[in-house]
Amino acid sequence: MLSPRDLLERNDPDIFSALTGEETRQASGVEMIPSENYTYPEVLTTLGSVFTNKYSEGYPGRRYYGGQEFTDAIERLARERAKQLFRCDHVNVQPLSGAPMNAAAYLALLHPGDTVMGMDLSHGGHLTHGAPVSHMGHLFDWIRYKTDPESEGRIDFDVLRQAALERRPKMIVCGYSSYPRDYDYRPFKDIADEVGALTLADVSHIGGLIAGEALANPFDAGFDVVTTTTHKSMRGPRGGMIMCREEFRKAIDQSVFPGLQGGPHMNQVAATAVALGKAQQPEFKRYCQQVLANARALARALLDGGAELVTGGTANHMMVMDCVRSFGINGRVAENALDEIAITCNKQVIPDDPNPPLRPSGVRLGTPAATTRGMAESEMEALGGFMLEALRKPDDEPGLRKLKDEVQALCAAFPVPGIRS
Ligand SMILES: *Cc1c(COP(=O)(O)O)cnc(C)c1O
Repeated sequence: MLSPRDLLERNDPDIFSALTGEETRQASGVEMIPSENYTYPEVLTTLGSVFTNKYSEGYPGRRYYGGQEFTDAIERLARERAKQLFRCDHVNVQPLSGAPMNAAAYLALLHPGDTVMGMDLSHGGHLTHGAPVSHMGHLFDWIRYKTDPESEGRIDFDVLRQAALERRPKMIVCGYSSYPRDYDYRPFKDIADEVGALTLADVSHIGGLIAGEALANPFDAGFDVVTTTTHKSMRGPRGGMIMCREEFRKAIDQSVFPGLQGGPHMNQVAATAVALGKAQQPEFKRYCQQVLANARALARALLDGGAELVTGGTANHMMVMDCVRSFGINGRVAENALDEIAITCNKQVIPDDPNPPLRPSGVRLGTPAATTRGMAESEMEALGGFMLEALRKPDDEPGLRKLKDEVQALCAAFPVPGIRS
């Protein structure tokens, strides 16, 4: 009998060859986009399982379709595991991804037109935090707060408080996609209490690092709602979770279904449960510590080589390099040069970037994926050195080819979980 892989190869050779091409791409270079990771083989198996066949509209014990013996069990397990890891009252594991997760959370607790506070996109906030190009940007009246260049890019809470006192937001959102520091959640909560606002932390990038107790947990500062994706530092399938205090359980659950979504993707819910089970193991705490140690080592290597990093370094898993000031090239040129040497990163706007989003000033680098492959500080130093060389001479094709060989030789010693070499 042919294996599922053999069947795909025989029946759809085009898709099969794209699949094997992507496997080779992922294994032969290194992924340094901070929002990406290499998931567990067990997650891949669960994602590709018969749970994808099942309609499970509703919640465990209250579904609109029969045959829910096993789907109820996996959704209950996912919720219990997440509740233990994040120390919270309730978790909804059905959001299909991060953007619908945030839409469901806002729509559960706000009315269209309400005033909401969120971090400005160019300062590290996410599209769903009120960027004018997102639907959420139109649906609510956003106050966009910024980071303070005078204090190494920390948030100026006096300015934030003043704006909150003037405009009285219904909710203060904190969280980021491109901000290389951990948050102190307490000042957000204090200001929210002062103006009677709800608090939502979107920890999409760092959900795994919070679960692994490497970074601060917003629930410890009394936050009302915390959202996270499951596919970034959490190492699970693509998806989202909304976690909340008991008083918001009903509103959140109704907002996800039937408010925003139809049937949950039960293969994804099952795979989320698998990843959360992994996150409960002591090994995961060590992984999270190594992600941070690797980020510090990479930042040090880049700084020692004369690069400029936004906020001067990193206290989490990512860093933003100002390529214009460091090398006199924009982020697109830098992204391409690193692509040429099999290091994948992404171009990135820096705070109040004078350059447009498709040719921004920076690139964003992160260590969760490389750490999953077992790379440690010495590999980060080596990779930092290769990056510096490539970025100093982005047009030197023979030089880039030589660097690519070195990166690929390094990667060969660190297999990607789930990819047969
Ligand atoms: C990645 C991210 C999201 C959105 O996740 P998608 O799964 O891409 O929709 C939301 N918020 C933050 C802060 C993120 O980093």
